[in-house]
Amino acid sequence: SDTLEINYLIGMAVDMGFSLIERQLLGIHGLLPPRMLSQENQVYAVMQNFYRLDNDLDRYSYMMSLQDRNEKGLYISINDKGHVFDILCNWPAKDVKAIVVTDGERILGLGDLGCFGMGIPVGKLSLYTALAGVQPGLCLPIMLDVGTNNDKILTDPLYIGLRQKRKRGQVYDEFIDEFMSAVVKRYGRDTLVQFEDFGNHNAFKLLDKYRDRYCAFNDDIQGTATAAVAGIMASLKITGKPLSENTYVFQGAGEAAIGIARLLLMAMREYGLSESEALQKIWMVDSKGLIVKNRPSGGVTEQKALFAKDHVPVDTLEQVVKEMKPTCIIAVTGTENLLTILKITSLLKSKLTKIEKILYVFHEKKGAAAQPGAFTEQILIDMAAFNDRPIIFALSNPTSKTECTAEEAYKFTKGRCVFASGPPFRPVTYENKVFHPGQGNNAYIFPAVALATILCDIRTITDEVFLESAKFLASMVTEKDLEEGRVYPPLSQIREVSTKMTIHLLNIAYKKGLALHYPEPSDKDSFVRAQQYSTEYLSCVPEIYEWPQFCSRI
Ligand code: NAP
Ligand code: MN
Repeated sequence: SDTLEINYLIGMAVDMGFSLIERQLLGIHGLLPPRMLSQENQVYAVMQNFYRLDNDLDRYSYMMSLQDRNEKGLYISINDKGHVFDILCNWPAKDVKAIVVTDGERILGLGDLGCFGMGIPVGKLSLYTALAGVQPGLCLPIMLDVGTNNDKILTDPLYIGLRQKRKRGQVYDEFIDEFMSAVVKRYGRDTLVQFEDFGNHNAFKLLDKYRDRYCAFNDDIQGTATAAVAGIMASLKITGKPLSENTYVFQGAGEAAIGIARLLLMAMREYGLSESEALQKIWMVDSKGLIVKNRPSGGVTEQKALFAKDHVPVDTLEQVVKEMKPTCIIAVTGTENLLTILKITSLLKSKLTKIEKILYVFHEKKGAAAQPGAFTEQILIDMAAFNDRPIIFALSNPTSKTECTAEEAYKFTKGRCVFASGPPFRPVTYENKVFHPGQGNNAYIFPAVALATILCDIRTITDEVFLESAKFLASMVTEKDLEEGRVYPPLSQIREVSTKMTIHLLNIAYKKGLALHYPEPSDKDSFVRAQQYSTEYLSCVPEIYEWPQFCSRI
């Protein structure tokens, strides 16, 4: 009978928030049970049901069904080349301030999902709202369908995108160019465009091409970099070594790793190092081993070339660690944490589509390209031998693919390492001390960067903005967090952290002349909070007032 009651409650709960006067004015009085439920009560009822479901997919579907709207995104295909602006005009909202766009080529660690990748822009924008309070109506998720090279999808009769191979080269470039100018024509030069989950080559190319001419950034390169560098900065409060006196070894040299390495370079230059001095502190290992100049096995792209060393080839990470004796090792080779994104977004009011379900199932089945166990026992033991407090960041996801577990990290370094991971790990007890591993997630960064950009009208998102975000996030890590082993603020505080980061970024933007919104708000704290989206009910009753008595009808 418990179940019955709860189900009944859930069915009604969402409507039962109407006040007596609202029920009367709207003509729905009597159609609802007499009790008025507060939002807290409704959340309680919903959560009771939520916890009774026994798997994540059911819980996810359940949360989706709670949505009262089913907003989708916008699909623009390469066949619409020449008419991109017209399609943008079909989107009903007249005012859009933020777009997250993908071409579906490298969705999380799942690879090319073509149009099935739409869940990503939708999910990322949900985080804009859930974590930073960006007004959902100002957000537009876009899929640029240029085809897919995923054979499994191409032969799927239910595939929702163009059934053709990916277009590349000039046609592709022109299409993206047209898209960028259409966005400006439709919504203005101040429209933020976040590039998300493009393939490695296009991601770097588009970022270089557009970052100065448009209000654009790439989250996989710059957002991830910022979150990771923040974690490193917080770790240094524990190890006591200045940023510029560390040696960093990367496992992986893709969008994420190169992004982190570049931001580290910038940070080290602030410490007074020259570019070449800073470069000496960074060693990168990709799928072919240590990145060295003229590597016989090749594969050194333009982005990697900057970090290529005059050194004989070294094949394994284990050998690289032994030789370079790093203070800090960072792995980013696998897949982004989709489950975290889904969990956060579905717990809060969001704008997800059914496509996310497909993604979810893909993710569960396929996993990622990262190598579980790449941080071997030997590597961890060596790191602990070279360093009093070695820094170990295993940022690949999901948990089954992470380079080492939190438990392994603490065990093999005898509880001395500073550890952060991509996926969440439960607290680990080692020799009676409890460690709470931090979760390095770019969700700490991009929603706040977006809100700040929108609110103070930043037109070009410079690297300074990201470096300042990293410093600020690191500064939000408390002594208590550090004592518990955390190098990020707890995820439960992310909304307040994002709000404070936004306020901080506004201050920076005005100081550096990046903000074009005038007048400059004198009280930025209340300015930001007043613009944030709130899920609190607003009264349905308009404000009512009286005229002087003598004017009223007798
Ligand atoms: P990407 O551009 O495709 O790069 C993947 C990189 O991993 C490539 O450099 C690849 O080497 C390298 N790699 C693959 N297998 C390897 C192996 N066995 N040994 C050494 N290197 C190997 O992808 P990405 O955008 O950088 O994303 C990669 C990772 O970043 C993902 O794992 C994701 O978990 C992580 N990430 C984390 C977050 C977060 O918030 N925690 C956010 C974004 C991304 P080649 O260059 O030789 O192919
Ligand atoms: Mn991404």
